Amino acid sequence: MGAREKIAFLEGLLEGLDPKGDPERKIYFAVVEALHALVDEIDDHEEILEEHRETIEDLSEYCEQLEEDMARLEGDLDDVDDLLEDEPGETFDSLECPECGHVFFFKPEARAEDGALQCPECGFVIQD
Ligand SMILES: [Zn+2]
Repeated sequence: MGAREKIAFLEGLLEGLDPKGDPERKIYFAVVEALHALVDEIDDHEEILEEHRETIEDLSEYCEQLEEDMARLEGDLDDVDDLLEDEPGETFDSLECPECGHVFFFKPEARAEDGALQCPECGFVIQD
């Protein structure tokens, strides 16, 4: 039996009791009225609590999303770090293909031992 049912039950009992004087009736029903007011207030608080609970759930979902985003960003940063560490101060040379005129960039170590280089555009082997 919930609080509301208990109060209704009490109300019924009091009505059946048929208190003698007016003052008693007034006091009994004032008590019942106070109980009703209490239950109403408790209901209001439950509603507010429920709203807070929803807000907290939203916030914790948001935090989880942020954590995922952070982890992804950290991963991306690690990749960038790896790239930067891989080739510290890396330099590229550029060359114009004498065959097709294509200008391209290449790493110095991309040259063959004899200094030959293949044009990425037409495949012409450029001898240095
Ligand atoms: Zn070429």
